[in-house]
Amino acid sequence: MAKLDGKIALISGGTSGIGAETARLFQSEGATVIVTGSSERSVVAAKAALPGIEVLVSDASDVAATKALVEQVKGKHSRIDILFVNAGIAKFAPIAQVDEAFYDNQFNVNVKGAFFLLKHAIPVIPDGGAIILTASVSGAAGALGGSTTIYGSTKAALRSFGRTFAKELAPRGIRINTISPGPIVTPILDKVGFTPAQKDSFIEGAKTRIPLGRTGTAAEVAAAALYLAADATYTTGAELFVDGGLIDL
Ligand code: NAD
Repeated sequence: MAKLDGKIALISGGTSGIGAETARLFQSEGATVIVTGSSERSVVAAKAALPGIEVLVSDASDVAATKALVEQVKGKHSRIDILFVNAGIAKFAPIAQVDEAFYDNQFNVNVKGAFFLLKHAIPVIPDGGAIILTASVSGAAGALGGSTTIYGSTKAALRSFGRTFAKELAPRGIRINTISPGPIVTPILDKVGFTPAQKDSFIEGAKTRIPLGRTGTAAEVAAAALYLAADATYTTGAELFVDGGLIDL
């Protein structure tokens, strides 16, 4: 029997990168998988790339949309056994260049969107269900890549959600755990505001600081998500770094 046979899994931000790889893995383990993306364009591309997976447009920064998403999934599947709160954006800038729009954009997608998706989805998650959050090493340590002030603080909020929600959900046997990836080569690196040369230098610079000597892959983060979703039955409120040892060594 596959690890997720009969399970309904909702993955926010599943149209590319870590979310898409996790969707493929969960599907291969028997789950019915629903993923979201922010734009019609990303959803069209993901539908072609993710056969058999339901792909929906739902802007994570729009609280009403997170509620509508949960209602849509509940209407069709009646429940969400596994919720992977993964949608996120990353923009890097020195403090002096951060304006209100830059701040709001990342907090709205990464923190407000995550909170309200959790709030709306929790009543639809049966007792014994599992929640996984995607934070980042940037939420736990400064000066990893420079200029991560705002992005890092959004991810610190997610680590906090993981701990505080765990206490409240434990009486229902719902586990919530956080994955904090280090640098993973995904399309996000093309959206942070780097020039191609800056992107290459970021990746090369990261490799010199990562004890395992390389960046990670989306498949390696997906494997961690599967572990937390299916195997980690006595683990809640934990943070799993998938970072080649960057944080700890
Ligand atoms: P990605 O850009 O490939 O994927 C991001 C996903 O989030 C996409 O599906 C995108 O459509 C979705 N998304 C973005 N804004 C959204 C919005 N407003 N509404 C709904 N969906 C939205 O990047 P990724 O690397 O796979 O990132 C996935 C998660 O991992 C993010 O939360 C990111 O912060 C986190 N992360 C990534 C890395 C890395 O190095 N790649 C490291 C640490 C944490």
